[in-house]
Order: sequence, then C-alpha cells, then structure tokens
Amino acid sequence: MLSIYNTLTKNVEEIRPITPGRVTMYTCGPTVYRYAHIGNLRTYLMADWIRRILEADGNEVYHIKNITDVGHMRQELAEAGGDKMIMAALAEGKSLQEIGEFYAEWFWKDEERTNIKPAHVFPWASHHIPEMLEMVTTLMGNGGAYEAGGNIYFDVNSFPEYGKLSRNFGGDLLEGVRAEADPLKRDPRDFTLWKAAEPGRDVKWDSPWGEGFPGWHIECSAMAHKYLGEHFDIHTGGVDNVFPHHEDEIAQSEGTFGHRHVNYWVHGQHLLADGAKMAKSAGNVFLVEDLATRGFDPLAFRYLCMTVRYRHRMNFTFTSLKAAEKALTGLRNRLWVWRNAAAGAGQHVLSNDGKTWSARFWDAVHNDLDLPTALAITWEMSRSELAPADKVELLLDFDRVFGLDLDKVPMQYEIGPTTSAAIDRRAALREQSAYSDADAMREEVIANGMVVEDIGTATRVRPQTMLELQSARWPSVSASREVPSLLDQPDLYEFTFLLNAYDYVDDVRRCVEAVLRHTGGASVEMIVVDNGSTDGTAEYLEQAQAEHAKVKVIHCDHVVGDAAGKNIGLKQARGKYIILLDASTEVVGDVMSPVAEHLADGTVGVFGPFGLTTDDMQHFHEEVDRGDADAMQAYCMAFRRADLESVGLMHESFRFYRNLDIDYCFQFKDAGYRVVCDSSLPLVRHEHRQWEELEENQRDELSRKNFGRFLKRWGNRPDLLINPAARGFDTGFRH
Ligand code: AMP
Ligand code: ZN
Repeated sequence: MLSIYNTLTKNVEEIRPITPGRVTMYTCGPTVYRYAHIGNLRTYLMADWIRRILEADGNEVYHIKNITDVGHMRQELAEAGGDKMIMAALAEGKSLQEIGEFYAEWFWKDEERTNIKPAHVFPWASHHIPEMLEMVTTLMGNGGAYEAGGNIYFDVNSFPEYGKLSRNFGGDLLEGVRAEADPLKRDPRDFTLWKAAEPGRDVKWDSPWGEGFPGWHIECSAMAHKYLGEHFDIHTGGVDNVFPHHEDEIAQSEGTFGHRHVNYWVHGQHLLADGAKMAKSAGNVFLVEDLATRGFDPLAFRYLCMTVRYRHRMNFTFTSLKAAEKALTGLRNRLWVWRNAAAGAGQHVLSNDGKTWSARFWDAVHNDLDLPTALAITWEMSRSELAPADKVELLLDFDRVFGLDLDKVPMQYEIGPTTSAAIDRRAALREQSAYSDADAMREEVIANGMVVEDIGTATRVRPQTMLELQSARWPSVSASREVPSLLDQPDLYEFTFLLNAYDYVDDVRRCVEAVLRHTGGASVEMIVVDNGSTDGTAEYLEQAQAEHAKVKVIHCDHVVGDAAGKNIGLKQARGKYIILLDASTEVVGDVMSPVAEHLADGTVGVFGPFGLTTDDMQHFHEEVDRGDADAMQAYCMAFRRADLESVGLMHESFRFYRNLDIDYCFQFKDAGYRVVCDSSLPLVRHEHRQWEELEENQRDELSRKNFGRFLKRWGNRPDLLINPAARGFDTGFRH
C-alpha cells in the first residue's frame, strides 16, 4: 500500500481511500497565460507517479487537473488591478480565449511527451464561475465571509483552524500579507473570494454583489467540489501552493461544507536550473520543447526526475540530463537483449528470486514514492544473475510505475538495403576476427542514421537518437567545469580574441569578420563560445571555423550564462594577450599593437577603450579618455593570460553581462593591477541588441541583481578606486 508524506499531518501515511478501490485526486494545474516549464512538469510528474502506483495496486483513480485561465486572479495581481493574462493577450493581439487555448495545447503536448497520463477532466476556471459564486453565497450565508466595498472576503476568524496546513499562524503570516495592505479587510489574513470589477475592466461576471471576478483560491475549491465532492482523497501541488493557495482552499471548503475537505495533501519540492531559481531574466527557464530541440528525449527528463525524491529540491543541469538519457538508452538496450535471449521461451513463470526483486521494488515505491531507490534496485536487478525472461517481466512490470514506455522498444527496426548489407559484411568480418575492418563498417552504418551496438554477444541495430545525431553534428558542453583549463600551458599565439556569442547571428558575423580582416598575418586565434544560441549562430560559426584556421568554436548545449561562457573561452585561450570582445563591437584597425604596448607595463592589468570611473560605487561614468580608470566595459577589454592565475576566472553567478565587467576589473585591482584606458583604440560600437531588446522591467531586474552581486563583493572596498576621496557612501541600489 502506498504511503506518502501528508503536509497536513506532517506524517508519512498510508493512503486509504474514502471508497475502497477508488481514489479521488485533484492536481493544481497549469496557468495558461504562459508556457509550463520543466519545474511545473516535475510537479505533474509527481502526481502521475502517485496515480500510477495506486493504479498498479489495483485502484481506480479519478484524476482532476484544473486549467487556470482568466478566472484565476493571483491576489497580488488582482490588488494591482492587473492580470498577466490580460496583459499578455493585449501584447500579442489575441483574444483571452485564444491565448488560453494556445498554452493549454502546449501543456497537453508536454504532458504527452513526458508520458503523464491525462487527467479524466481538465476543468477550465472560467467555465465554473457559477460554482464559485455558489460557494461564496454559502459562506456569506453562514458567516464565513463578508462584503466590503463590493468585494467579498473570507473571514479567517470564522475558521479557527486557519493555518493548519502551512502552520502559518502568527507573525510570519502577518508579515507575508502586510504588503497587500487592503484597508477593507477586517483582518490582514482575510483573503478575496470575489473582487469588484474596476471601471473599464473587460473580463468580469455578474454576481449578487455586482460585476466582478473570482479570487484565485476559490477556483480550486469550487472545481474540486464539483468533480470530486465535498470530501476527497488526494490533493497535489508544488510547495509554493501550500501557502496561501491550499491553506485558503481548506478554509473556504471546510467553511462551506462544515467538515474535512481533503485527506492527503501532497506537495512536490521545486526544481532549480543550473543551481538557481528559474527566472526568465536569468535565462534559465527551460521548457520541454527546449530539451527536445536540443535533441533530448523528453522521457530522459522523466527519468531524471526519478533520480531525486519528490520531497527534495532538484537541481536540473544539462549534464545530468545527458546522464539520464544515457541511462534510459541503457535500460532500453538491456530490455532488448533480455527479450532476445528469452525469445521463444513460451509461457513464463516468475522465479522466486524474481519475486524477491519485485518485493524490494514495490517496497521502495510504496515507501513515500522512493523512486531513486526503486531505480537503484532496477539497475541492481538488471546486473544480477536472474534469468533474462525474469528480467523482462520485472522491468516491464516496474515500467507501469516508471512510465518510460519501455515496452515500446521494438525487437527490430526497419533498415534499408545499404545498411543491411553493411551489417552483414560487418558480421562476416567479426567472424574472421577482423575487428578494425568491422569497426569501419560500423561507421558506415552510423552514416546511414543507424547505430550498431554489440551488447553482450548480440548485435543490435537501432536508429540514432536525436541526441546522438545532434552531438555528431558538433560536440557541445553543458557547463564550464566540463571544459579543461589550458591556463598552465605555454602561449601558442600572441593574441586570443574571445567572443561570447549568444544569438544575434548578424552581429556575431560582423564581429568575427572584422577581427579576421584586421589581424592579417599576426599570430592570432579567435575563440567564439556559442552560448546556447538557437538562431543559426551555431551554424554560422561552424562554417567560419571550417573556412578560417584562426576561428575556434566551442558550443554550449544551452545558455550557460555570460560569465560561464567567457570562462570557457578563457580556459581554452592560448594567446599571450586576451582581447575580450562583445558582438556589438567591430574592430576597424590595428588593436593589437596598442594592447601589446599598454600591457607591456606590468602594473597594468586591464586595458581597453571604454573606461569607467565612479565616486560612489553606484554610478559608473564613461568619462575617461586616456589613463587610469576604475573599470573597463566588456565591449572590449584586454589582459595578459599569465595574470589569470592570480586574478582568477569570472564569477559564474553573473549569468547576465551587466556589471560582470566591473566585477572582473575589481578582481584585477584586488590583485594589485591598474585598469587603463585609451579611447582612441580603433573599434566601433554598434547597438547592443541583448540590451536593447529587453523590456524595461527586465533591464531593471537584471541590473539590480547583478549590481547587488557586485556590491556584495566590493561595496566595502573603496580603497580600490582611483579617486581616494570616494569613501563612506551608502550601498543601497539607485538607478
Ligand atoms: P503555476 O502554473 O504557476 O500555477 O504552477 C503550476 C504548478 O507547478 C504548481 O503546482 C506549482 O506549485 C508548481 N511549480 C511552480 N514552479 C515550480 C518549480 N520551479 N518546480 C516545481 N514545481 C513548480
Ligand atoms: Zn489550485
């Protein structure tokens, strides 16, 4: 029997359905004014595994997953009078209905690709306004709610158990809601059930209290009630749903019905990407589609999620996704081998050893969804001495929980006559122990889009996976730590030009070609890091590399971030002087001679044309033409490679370029070097598109975050500034 951690009781409890054999389950579903990201998918996967285990145990599971469209008004948005969905609709020139359907379709596609069983009903919030109003009316009638200014609020003081889910009873709670500061509320903890429409609002409904729209939490209460009744078994969501969403849902529902609403509240921990909270501005929000376009099997993501217990935070990296895809391919291969070996064995009865493995597996999954252990048991079983037929039976049985579609592994793929002939010749060569010739045939097969694998004594031919196809095109890295450092190796060139390229292929081309044009016969290499571009930059760079011996490209399989991308280049550089460029720049003359000249002075650490000064660490001015500066802008900064040993690499928490240059210059200053500028360097600056194409609020957020990082490190080091008068400033952020 499945036991799971119940957020309500803070205990791991056996799931005992209200109606034996039938489990009712509600999952807080997607908000359809944006794409669901892989973090959301992780939470839906958790619900899917719970459902699969319950079904494997012989229960019927009735599963509801709501679609949050316009009916959903997050409190803070409602308070601000705005709704992201409405803004998105306006921005895209579409109707609300169209927007919602568009994102819902994507969501269903993502669920399908990751093998999440579809819920039995996907109710739309905006189609359930009458049900919501009915609950609000009941609460108004029984003293659970009150009207103020056309709004209806839930009266938290009418529900003494408020806080029982999140244990958020006192100070924290008040702290959390104070920001709202709605003077109409009797108690700051009270929350909106129904909100009066402000003048000019399009999306609104009639109610006994005038035109308005529902609060966020009421949607789930109303829809859960409609489809699952007043009392049901399991309610799932992500940890961020515990408070206030689910706490408020309990209050409303139990306040309406007068008894317990849900028996088991289950919450999944969040997914981080590259070690950070996913945020658009950090460039680390990934969708299933992003994984697919990079060649990954979406089921590899499913596999990856099984390697971390649902109650633990999971850090998503492309390195771990690659490992997951490899493991998944490994499982598929093994299944094929065992099936091959067990073929023709007829009716099969699981051996006693097999039963022991089975028991261990089911113990693990029943124990609070311990999929990491279940996977470990599966691998141990696969390597054991168990008979192949037993292994086949067990793995397919386990896959009822895993959901990796292992039963879809065909025994044979269709192969064309050329491949087939190559395979026959290869088999003949192997027979004669002519292994190197046989290996050559293998290449031929791969060239036909198929892979030959010798697994044990059997040989299997299967189509190349997308990932194999992609990485055959060009190898890529997932993190800067995967790239070896050559900093301790001797110089090979006089100069390394280094460009960190992130889309905007025309700018990248202009920058690269300008460098090539002006470096003539000099001893130069140009390293370009393709920082997860998707607009044809990668293809252009491959071509440039093929045509010009100086150009070296390192591809990243996703956006690793600005500092990480630059570090990859720095680690691989072999030039005595490194000239770091930005794609918005264009070299128009000899920049190498002035760089070599200035850096011949051992006291100079960084040289470039665009120097900055500051008096207060807050405002950096571009007013140095020549001479010492406080920092150099990254459009162009040059330094000696040999100094990196003492200065170090860049701080990779800077995923965005802003302030990273200043931060890095301070590293040089801290190591005792000067930053020197000469604005006559022959270099032209064009529009910086990465910056220009950001929205105002994104710029603010990004700048603020990076400025904060910079200040945290250097805010108390005015001694590093060229103006010794700059002391004693405050360190709050100003624009
Ligand atoms: P939303 O579309 O924002 O309502 O979120 C849908 C579901 O995903 C909710 O259950 C959230 O709790 C959950 N969720 C949001 N962010 C993450 C994340 N980074 N990792 C895992 N689950 C998340
Ligand atoms: Zn919900």
